[in-house]
Amino acid sequence: MDKLGIYIHIPFCVRKCAYCDFYSIEDMDRRTAYVEALVSQIRSFRSMGTRHVVDSVYIGGGTPSVLSGEEMGRILAAVRSSFSVSREAEITAEANPGTLDTSKLSAYREAGINRLSIGLQSADNGELKMLSRIHTREDFESSFLLARLEGFENINVDVMYALPGQSEDTLAATLDYVMALEPEHISFYGLKLEPDTPFGRDPGIAADVPSEDVQYEMYLSAAKKMEDAGFMQYEISNFAKLGMECRHNLKYWSCEEYLGFGPGAYSFFGGRMFSYAKDITRFIAMPEDSVALFEENYIPTDKELAVQYVMLGFRLKRGIDTAEYEARFDDDFDMRYQEKMKPFLLKKYILKTKSGYRLSKRGMLISNYILSEILDFKEDAE
Ligand code: SF4
Repeated sequence: MDKLGIYIHIPFCVRKCAYCDFYSIEDMDRRTAYVEALVSQIRSFRSMGTRHVVDSVYIGGGTPSVLSGEEMGRILAAVRSSFSVSREAEITAEANPGTLDTSKLSAYREAGINRLSIGLQSADNGELKMLSRIHTREDFESSFLLARLEGFENINVDVMYALPGQSEDTLAATLDYVMALEPEHISFYGLKLEPDTPFGRDPGIAADVPSEDVQYEMYLSAAKKMEDAGFMQYEISNFAKLGMECRHNLKYWSCEEYLGFGPGAYSFFGGRMFSYAKDITRFIAMPEDSVALFEENYIPTDKELAVQYVMLGFRLKRGIDTAEYEARFDDDFDMRYQEKMKPFLLKKYILKTKSGYRLSKRGMLISNYILSEILDFKEDAE
């Protein structure tokens, strides 16, 4: 049986953060209707996954932890009744401090959730306020400790850098604080000023963001700090204790199959890529009518998939396995890319490995530039 990942989007947030451009709304009154619609959509895929075993489920958002234990249970019951879910499946829910309590956490465990991803972002209450997060560091700490008490043995903590006004010292203090709590996984993302957000529209915010040089230093010293503490980097933005890498997200970076449910969710399944429009009203009105909900729906060519495989593979610390690339795409990786990679190999932004190539830490810092230089999207996608 082929393996399959399932992503479920929960597009609700208590309050929209000023930097965020993910699809979510603040109107909690639509939650019940949304959960109904989600359950219908999941069930309508019942016949699609008969040759697959689901080994990861990721409930993301938005803020999935606004859902009650009962609502989370209904969604996961729909997944189990529609797909064959492995007993060892990794089942993650994203959660925000300030939306968790003991009975909810206990119901989530009961529903089968065995991994939590908690959005801390910063342990500095001033930075949290500036980001317009709904929680304080103290809220986070009590959520984290409650989750441990309820038996969650696999917890990720999200941390952000390159925040307006953030210094290398406040970032180091956040990481020290997080690592002292001993989570299994840390996601470490740089703030991006997205144009359609209050942050993106505010020139004062842009002026306060640390310079590129400082951001590079922040990234390199944070990566070292985490690795020194036993959090091994396995992807540009992700660090984990041994064996605790996020299996679901690894599927995306390895171009494996996944099905997404809910508005804005993406799927790669049966050789087809599709996504749904970010429109909760339409979704609630016709959750089983995929055609009406599609934003994109196409079969990528082998060349397009090969380009994507390289783009995503270079995000991973293990990098590209050239033999796997050749077996998958019937294409010689060295012949296609070596000439273009040469300057980056010389400067050690790209390193040769036993099985292929990977980016060095410095290479990861400029991964977008490197990929834009070595992948000629038009030519490579022909
Ligand atoms: S809680 Fe997360 S998804 Fe919601 S607005 Fe804030 S950053 Fe975006």
